[in-house]
Amino acid sequence: MSSYQSINPANNQLLKTWPSHDDAWMQQALETADRLYHSDWCKGDMQPRLQVLTRLAELIDANVEQLATIASQEMGKLIGQSRGEVKICAQIARYYAEHAATLLQPRAYPSDVGDAWLEYHPIGVIVAVEPWNFPYYQLMRVLAPNLALGNPVLAKHAPIVPHCADAFEKLVLEAGAPQGAWTNLFISNEQVAELIADHRVQGVALTGSERAGSAVAQQAGKYLKKSTLELGGNDVFVVLDDADLDEAVRQGAQARLSNCGQVCTAAKRFIVHEKVAGQFMAKFSAALQSAVAGDPLDEKTTLGPLSSRDARERLIKQVEDAVQHGARVECGGRPIDGVGCYFQPTILTGLTPDNPAYYQEFFGPVAQVYVVASDSAAVALANDSHYGLGGSVWTRDIARGRKMASQIETGMVFINSQSDTAAELPFGGVKRSGYGRELSDLGLKEFANQKLVVVA
Ligand code: NDP
Repeated sequence: MSSYQSINPANNQLLKTWPSHDDAWMQQALETADRLYHSDWCKGDMQPRLQVLTRLAELIDANVEQLATIASQEMGKLIGQSRGEVKICAQIARYYAEHAATLLQPRAYPSDVGDAWLEYHPIGVIVAVEPWNFPYYQLMRVLAPNLALGNPVLAKHAPIVPHCADAFEKLVLEAGAPQGAWTNLFISNEQVAELIADHRVQGVALTGSERAGSAVAQQAGKYLKKSTLELGGNDVFVVLDDADLDEAVRQGAQARLSNCGQVCTAAKRFIVHEKVAGQFMAKFSAALQSAVAGDPLDEKTTLGPLSSRDARERLIKQVEDAVQHGARVECGGRPIDGVGCYFQPTILTGLTPDNPAYYQEFFGPVAQVYVVASDSAAVALANDSHYGLGGSVWTRDIARGRKMASQIETGMVFINSQSDTAAELPFGGVKRSGYGRELSDLGLKEFANQKLVVVA
């Protein structure tokens, strides 16, 4: 059984251990959630559910500092970035509170068969399996649309962020959600599999690694349940010869170091036009190396630790393997000495397709830089990836940027900005980055019964 422990990765101190939930507890939670699904709360007027979301947004806004501190202590995110994550959660709750009723209006389908329309109904209990890198935002992406729609959620969070999981659940209940609307479960992967198999569960949403996504999707497929997967990414950050270089460097460094590089949509592969490659490398390397490692709770720190010792070990090994297969370390490349899970901001070059690292996602402050001679070469390199999550293109010629955006095989592309997220924008990828969308109207309808009604 997984052990749910809060350990501060800045100093490796154990803060608290949470007991795991046994099968009887889990079954009770499932029964409560299912009972709720069959009640008026889920099937009736959505206004009471939307009021809970409004209240939840207020509570989150009133508790930014406390929630942010928990995340920073538990998984090492810089305090300013933790505050940003918490505030986005309030925005997502508020977005669905304000827009869900409109987005779920029946949609007419002109047809010769008769008067036809689509209605949106909840489908039942949903299981959410979530990672540690955005310990609140990931939960809110599932909670807000499903609460609005009327699907109860059983949530299995990553074992290294139990305090965040606990704090989030308490706020949802304090906001007025009935028992069963959102239930945090400290359970093992085997127990998750049992939940997915149960006839009362109708869907599963996962964000995490390909390994986790594949295991959960297999189980969902076996029991014919809908799933959405938001997996890894190896996003490109394309800098063309007419880009605003200083801004590209500033945002590129930010995009690679934010959350200590542990972001699925972080810029990971920097593809730079040969005409500006020399300048870019010099400025980018200086920007990465100016990061100040330290306590994530200290406002002056600009580089926090990785989320856990395991995460750091994985990254050390990955960089060593990349170098053994021919990559060059332009800067960094090593863990930072001392206690805590710190790693130097790193640039790798000389990566070729026969190097396993060429196709790997580096979940940490490690950038790969490639130099290309043309737009078509940039697109070919961008698409030579198993992943297809996001990407960023930098050019002063918007038509050129739009053309490239349409050619890049990912679920999201930003022109002249690093990847971003907002409640009203769809989020998700293609290829091995998964399927389905979260947030926006699309996220609201992933686990809806989109029911056709026809009056002949
Ligand atoms: P995991 O994918 O293992 O963890 C994410 C969540 O999935 C956790 O709650 C985990 O629980 C759960 N999980 C894993 N396997 C299963 C399973 N068979 N059945 C049910 N749930 C499962 O991420 P890691 O923390 O191990 O990170 C590994 C790598 O994954 C990272 O280095 C990064 O490349 C990628 N990743 C990508 C993320 C993203 O945002 N796209 C987020 C996190 C990781 P448990 O830990 O108990 O197994």
